[in-house]
Amino acid sequence: MSNFYKKILDNNKQWVESQLALDPDYFNDLSKGQNPPLLWIGCSDSRVPANEIIGAKPGEVFVHRNIANLVIHTDMNMLSVLDYAVNALKVKHIIVCGHYGCGGVKAAMGNESIGIIDNWIRHIKDLFRIHQEELLSIDDEEKRFNKLVELNVVEQVYDLAKTSIVQNAWKIGQELSLHGWVYGLNSGYVTDLDVNFSCNKDLDEVFKLNI
Ligand SMILES: [Zn+2]
Repeated sequence: MSNFYKKILDNNKQWVESQLALDPDYFNDLSKGQNPPLLWIGCSDSRVPANEIIGAKPGEVFVHRNIANLVIHTDMNMLSVLDYAVNALKVKHIIVCGHYGCGGVKAAMGNESIGIIDNWIRHIKDLFRIHQEELLSIDDEEKRFNKLVELNVVEQVYDLAKTSIVQNAWKIGQELSLHGWVYGLNSGYVTDLDVNFSCNKDLDEVFKLNI
């Protein structure tokens, strides 16, 4: 057995012991149910662990992660997580959190074929095309990359707001706010991009649903 594999099993035992030492009912209480106020939609990148970077405990964050934190409205996985989070768990906030240095966004800016992922990050290429003028006017490659990371987060927040699930929640008066963040791999800090929705009034007319 590899050292790493053995280590993570040992880590689990130690973690259980340390939690129980603090609170003997810790796992009993958690097993009774969850009531998280937040749905986190983030990147699969191993360096952006949702709970750790916001100091959240087990039970506080419902999490969905995929490559480049995309909200694709035909993605049954994302839609199922979103539906359950909004309609069953009644989360009050949804954060889309991208990160600078995102490999998915970087790959989308280039021309190399990587495999199946080419089709997934095509969504980011579409976004690049929409913002082509602005992006190509940025000479510094790193800054252009950062800008696309930010534009991608903003777009995904809009795409969340366009879903029937989110619009339906607003229609029935459920408290639900959407936010967009970018995490800095080299600083540990998140930046709030100030793209906030709590109703559908800022959506383009064509996306507003009469639910
Ligand atoms: Zn990423």
